[in-house]
Amino acid sequence: MTAFGTQFSDQFITAEYRDGSWHKPELKPLAPMPMHPAAHVFHYASTCFEGFKAYRWADGSVHIFRLHDHVARMQKSAASLHLPVPDADLLAHMVLDVVAANRDDVPELPGALYLRPTLIGTLPNIGAAASPSTEAMLYVLTSPVGDYFAGGIRPLKILIDDVNARSTTQLGSTKTGGNYAAALGPTLAAKDEFGVDQVLFCPSSDVQETGAANFLVIGDDHVLTKPLDSTFLHGITRASTLALAHDLGYTVEERPFTVAELLDSIKTTDAALSGTAASLTPVGEMVYQGQTHVVNPGSEYGSVIKLRDALSAVHSGEREDTHGWLTQVD
Ligand SMILES: *Cc1c(COP(=O)(O)O)cnc(C)c1O
Repeated sequence: MTAFGTQFSDQFITAEYRDGSWHKPELKPLAPMPMHPAAHVFHYASTCFEGFKAYRWADGSVHIFRLHDHVARMQKSAASLHLPVPDADLLAHMVLDVVAANRDDVPELPGALYLRPTLIGTLPNIGAAASPSTEAMLYVLTSPVGDYFAGGIRPLKILIDDVNARSTTQLGSTKTGGNYAAALGPTLAAKDEFGVDQVLFCPSSDVQETGAANFLVIGDDHVLTKPLDSTFLHGITRASTLALAHDLGYTVEERPFTVAELLDSIKTTDAALSGTAASLTPVGEMVYQGQTHVVNPGSEYGSVIKLRDALSAVHSGEREDTHGWLTQVD
């Protein structure tokens, strides 16, 4: 399979917001979309998206993971950008329809069909820097993805940055393009200077998240991560991991913690990044103030893998879906 995010299904689905209402969604062949060069999104970054997956079970049935939570998060993102907010039913049905249309593209496990709803402001007005886009386009792309860990698990190397913020308090929990633009510079500089994969943003020593993934400290019977606030993206993989850890009898701590506490805890405890694309990925090394700290030396990331396996078992239907996270596609 080709690199993550570069292969798309033949069909996508679009809906336009014009004259104060959403128009009927259209399923159509994937093709470039004509767009006015003055469209609000190109100038003032009125854009948000979602990312989640549909899985094919061994019996051939197809199941979407936490559809309604992703729809709700997209509504929250849209509202924070003052974009027209899609109705939950409209968006959920667009997702179900586009997955049904591209059903043959849902790969066998551990692959999945990655789903990418996207909302952009299309109002043609370059004078609208301080006003919202009253026209919008909503669409859902689907992309078959293979096993993220086909080459085996490669633990990540991460730079701890206790100066820069990834985003702002206004948009920290919004899944919007501008946040990735803000994280890109520090991330490229860190790759260049320290050979790391990602930057863990910890402004004023508050351990937050990386450019596109949440951060968790994971032990054999406890998990520690930052509590929900407006500075970071409220990951659904994070929430699912905490729920499963709770089910398994772990102590789940959601509280702020500092870089000093983090460096102390990783002496004997695993750490991981969490997100839909790569599930839970172990962190192997952390660089802070020019010094490299090995995470839980000698461990084989067993604590991370145990929770990752529990999550995968829900995706595949091998573990009972006690939280009602899966929606079957007809
Ligand atoms: C999407 C995203 C995550 C992970 O969210 P999931 O719902 O778990 O996929 C974490 N951080 C950022 C900045 C993100 O954009």
